[in-house]
Amino acid sequence: MENNEGWQDHKDILVILAHPDDPEFFLGASIARWIKAGHRVRYVLLTQGDKGSKDPDLSAADVARIRIEEQNAAGAMLGVTSIDYLDYEDGYLIPDLEMRKKIVRFIRTYRPHILVTCDPGNLFPSQQYINHPDHRNAGQVVVDAVFPAAGNRFFFPELLDEGCEPHEVEEVWMSVTNQPDVRLDVTEHWGDKLNALKLHASQIGDPRAFEKRMLERLENGGKEDFKYEEQFRVIKFRRRTE
Ligand SMILES: [Zn+2]
Repeated sequence: MENNEGWQDHKDILVILAHPDDPEFFLGASIARWIKAGHRVRYVLLTQGDKGSKDPDLSAADVARIRIEEQNAAGAMLGVTSIDYLDYEDGYLIPDLEMRKKIVRFIRTYRPHILVTCDPGNLFPSQQYINHPDHRNAGQVVVDAVFPAAGNRFFFPELLDEGCEPHEVEEVWMSVTNQPDVRLDVTEHWGDKLNALKLHASQIGDPRAFEKRMLERLENGGKEDFKYEEQFRVIKFRRRTE
């Protein structure tokens, strides 16, 4: 398995996921690593996480407002350039053509080199849980938008009228995968991930117990060459022009 990005130059990185907190939970340390290396990272989140609470005194709109505030703070701490929130209802994401068109618009507008999402094929990340359908469906709509729609002007031709010219990304990085082929050493950035996650206060319960869990959970038990890592399945497109 590769253990670095293999990038030679500056990258614009667009992270598209389902919920506020997904970027930090799935790959927060890698985001810190990339920003510290001088790359630019933007997020697009498909929902506002409006079902992310069991508090009977909160409305769905309250939950969404809290989660956007938390996500904005976490993104700011990591140095994320921008965060766009779509308003699909939490829990009900279906990767339809309307959603695909919106993703194509973002890809053609921000024109990233690197597109990051999660693996749409990962139903069972471990024997302990079922992957949230929004995560799989976000990964699905993003992958479908990347190829072939974003790079082909005959897809959603009305976007051309908005100035959204076709764009082909260089690589797709998928987090939450059971088929990783890149692992990043994020030992130096694990603290940044934890600090950003702690800003998602509505989601993590008791912060001290959370921190203890996070520090224990992903250690490699001294067996590997580094202590904390984040893993990805990576598609590096081979272009005919190369
Ligand atoms: Zn999520």
